[in-house]
Amino acid sequence: MAETRKLVINFAEVKRGDVGTVGGKNASLGEMISTLAPKGILVPAGFATTADAFRAYLTHNNLNAEMAKHLDALATGKITLNSAGERVRDLILGGDWPKDTADAILSEYRALGDTTGEKNVPVAVRSSATAEDLPDASFAGQQETFLNVIGEAALLDACKRCYASLYTDRAISYRTIQGFAHDQVALSVGVQRMVRADTGGSGVMFSIDTESGFPDAVLINAAWGLGENVVQGAVDPDEYQVFKPFLKNPKLTPILEKRLGAKEIKMIHGRDGTPRNVPTSKAERKQFVLNDGEILSLARQAAIIEDHYGQPMDMEWARDGVTGTLYIVQARPETVQSRLDMGTLKSYAVENPGRELLTGLSVGSAAVAGRVSIIESAGDIDRFVDGSVLVTGTTDPDWVPIMKRAAAIVTDHGGRTSHAAIVSRELGLPAIVGCGNATHILHDEQDVTVSCAGGEEGVVTEGLSEIKVTEEALEKLPDTRTKVMLNLANPSAALRWWRLPVEGVGLARMEFVVNGAVRVHPMALAHLDRVTDPAAREEIEKLTAGYDSKPEYFVDKLSRGLSRIAAFCYPKPVIVRMSDFKTNEYADLLGGRDFEPKEENPMLGFRGASRYYSDNYRDGFALECQAIARLRNQMGFDNVVMMIPFCRTPEEADKVLAVMAEHGLKRGQDGLEVYVMCEIPANVIRAAEFAERFDGFSIGSNDLTQLTLGIDRDSDELAPLFREDDPAVLWMIETVIREAHKAGSKVGFCGQAPSNDPAYAKYLVEYGIDSISVTPDSFVQVLRNVETAESD
Ligand code: PEP
Ligand code: MG
Repeated sequence: MAETRKLVINFAEVKRGDVGTVGGKNASLGEMISTLAPKGILVPAGFATTADAFRAYLTHNNLNAEMAKHLDALATGKITLNSAGERVRDLILGGDWPKDTADAILSEYRALGDTTGEKNVPVAVRSSATAEDLPDASFAGQQETFLNVIGEAALLDACKRCYASLYTDRAISYRTIQGFAHDQVALSVGVQRMVRADTGGSGVMFSIDTESGFPDAVLINAAWGLGENVVQGAVDPDEYQVFKPFLKNPKLTPILEKRLGAKEIKMIHGRDGTPRNVPTSKAERKQFVLNDGEILSLARQAAIIEDHYGQPMDMEWARDGVTGTLYIVQARPETVQSRLDMGTLKSYAVENPGRELLTGLSVGSAAVAGRVSIIESAGDIDRFVDGSVLVTGTTDPDWVPIMKRAAAIVTDHGGRTSHAAIVSRELGLPAIVGCGNATHILHDEQDVTVSCAGGEEGVVTEGLSEIKVTEEALEKLPDTRTKVMLNLANPSAALRWWRLPVEGVGLARMEFVVNGAVRVHPMALAHLDRVTDPAAREEIEKLTAGYDSKPEYFVDKLSRGLSRIAAFCYPKPVIVRMSDFKTNEYADLLGGRDFEPKEENPMLGFRGASRYYSDNYRDGFALECQAIARLRNQMGFDNVVMMIPFCRTPEEADKVLAVMAEHGLKRGQDGLEVYVMCEIPANVIRAAEFAERFDGFSIGSNDLTQLTLGIDRDSDELAPLFREDDPAVLWMIETVIREAHKAGSKVGFCGQAPSNDPAYAKYLVEYGIDSISVTPDSFVQVLRNVETAESD
């Protein structure tokens, strides 16, 4: 009993079970300090006041009856929330500290400074609401925090203000709505040594991917200065993502994503010590807040913390600008993805979207059409039209009541861990954050469609588009002998497929990743001096700013883009096909015109294998190879299989394999497998010779049908004749499967046919195909058809 009567407890003695004494936030800080320090988790030292101290304060000042009187008056509608809140807060602020509590706080405060010989050590003072049975009785950011509090008088004052903040208007109304009795909730104040993040950086991180719930990726947001801007969404932070399973191997750098945020402002300590925002310098905006070592170190800490708590976690971190040390300053359970129904997978598609109005970071994967309601400040929230799309600069807890009534949320500022993003996710609403200027571009009562369905980039388009929703039940999916895999092209949406029971990726078309993530022709990066278009050169310079070299930009962007596809189903195989643009498509890449011939028939032209050993593309192919080597060796994705498209002869195959070996990608070495596309009749006719050179075939019915029937695959006129089930095409498929199997080679299928018509799977199963790869929308249907065909 004596233990629970304590007024102040040092964090070193607090455990996670002490929620009733010090609240969820402080209990978890204490738990980390007392148990995770040996594992390398650094949490700034400090102490917490207890719920008993709070109650003693109220009793000492005879406040209970007075407070109850005002709150009852509010409950019966005699006074407004505004005046009830103010009266209760005034009562608390007007109280005196009981001597024993003040002594206990100040003695711990002095001890905190003694460890480093500092007097008046700067501290962060935070509120942690406590309720007997609740891990956390507060909604994101409900009570006050005071940073850089210096000196004894200031500390006691800040503690008192924290007490009063248990009765902010929004905290009162939150408890009323949730049905918590006010007098059952107490407040514990956490006092921690201040991390000098004002001259360093800070941010938020989650031990899972917040959008897809993918459990193997850590998401980190980072900005310069103190962390409040990231939490509130006042700044557009850097975003990093790390693949957790490889963190135990110190040789690997599994960073799936590094996105530079605008970071226009940073919070520092003003002259009087109180935090204030100042603009960042140009150099700060262009620079990542964290280096690779720091990103990996934080991700490792996230994994350790998650492991310790046995559940996905939501954390805040800070880097001391003086020492460079990284600290964890808060950790609590992630509440959104962990509560979602895992049994179904919902996907959204916008039909015939209108003109693109703006883009930002998507939150969730839903889409919705609705009417815009622009609200500039919290004072105007009465103007919000229920059910409309809330468009605003940024949000804080005062906005929650209208966020609950919105169809979607669009903000100018903030990252994926901002208040707006967190609340939207909690409410299950699509949101697009950090759009830059949504409040200017959109106008009230405008009809728009808000879509987060396309991956990491959220898009607002004109008009009310129709939205197609498909829901897949993921329980009771059959186990099939034939492997069913995915064709994926969009790295930014790849993680969302982790719940599908896929056997890997049968086709990742590199050219799509080049188009979306790189945008520049690889030869233009290898030989910028040969780019004649000044506008293209300028754009290339802009895109590659901050990179050590132009080629490095290509290798970095491509390997990271592909890594997301390689990660979501690791360790299942992911077949990455080397670039297969046609010359007209290559020419459309930035700087591409100077490197591509003009062809009458690009479909039958300088494409696929023929390019890779040619002097006209060799240096570009070298960069593609470097990206694959980095992906496999440095990042750790040894599940990546290479595939060569449009390989016309076995002699061509030999040349390409030789060039790959020059770049350290030797078939068979370090488990590297290399496949060849079967999409030219020659691949079928000389199957045995191709089988000697490759580990497997993947049938591309799009080109194989085009070249077997002699029909341009893009011809509208001949579309009715373009049939993958034409007997001639089926003969090709049956033959190559037989011949390849005879030679001991594996055969998969990655053409569009079964994705368009899941019934097509029956031919392939009948011919004994090893795997079928389809687009995600038809995966479940194809799986079922494969099961039926296998049991026939
Ligand atoms: C094919 O030809 O069937 C194929 C999968 O490749 P692509 O569609 O990219 O040409
Ligand atoms: Mg093809």
